[in-house]
Amino acid sequence: MLIETGIPTPEDIQSVTPSEERFRKGPVAIAECFQKIPCNPCTKACVKQAIRVEPDINETPKIDYDVCNGCGACIARCPGLAIFVVDKTYGENEALVKLPFEFLPIPEAGQKACGLDRSGKELGWFRVEKVIPGGKKNMTYTICLAVPKELAMEVRNIRVGGYQNG
Ligand code: SF4
Ligand code: SF4
Repeated sequence: MLIETGIPTPEDIQSVTPSEERFRKGPVAIAECFQKIPCNPCTKACVKQAIRVEPDINETPKIDYDVCNGCGACIARCPGLAIFVVDKTYGENEALVKLPFEFLPIPEAGQKACGLDRSGKELGWFRVEKVIPGGKKNMTYTICLAVPKELAMEVRNIRVGGYQNG
């Protein structure tokens, strides 16, 4: 249970997972935000208004997967580090996972980072495709990681440091 372990259950994840049909259309944001807390910066980050927190600020966010284009602008704006973008159309065998990251050192594009699942378990070494700074007054980076397609819904973090070149 999330409240005891800090790890969402498979049912939690399933409840926010877009359909395979939607995944086939391109990148899409997934809000793994399951606790009712007064929070909504994600709604303001999305110019397409794909994220809604309704009927009041304590509700969990809902993403309209038909409106979201997977731009990733909401990732660094979420203080809970709960939003990810998954692109299963990235390559024949690879998906791109965009995840929030707030630790130093930050990896560089071209390096490999050790991918972790939601419990912190190591899943392998994956290529960092791009690193996007959060911008002015925002120290949250977005790490774009190429992962095997079957791990697209598993990799949700990277281990801090020890990045491999090439
Ligand atoms: S990825 Fe872009 S379009 Fe999708 S919810 Fe986030 S900000 Fe909106
Ligand atoms: S900003 Fe993040 S933590 Fe806050 S409601 Fe949105 S997804 Fe949840």
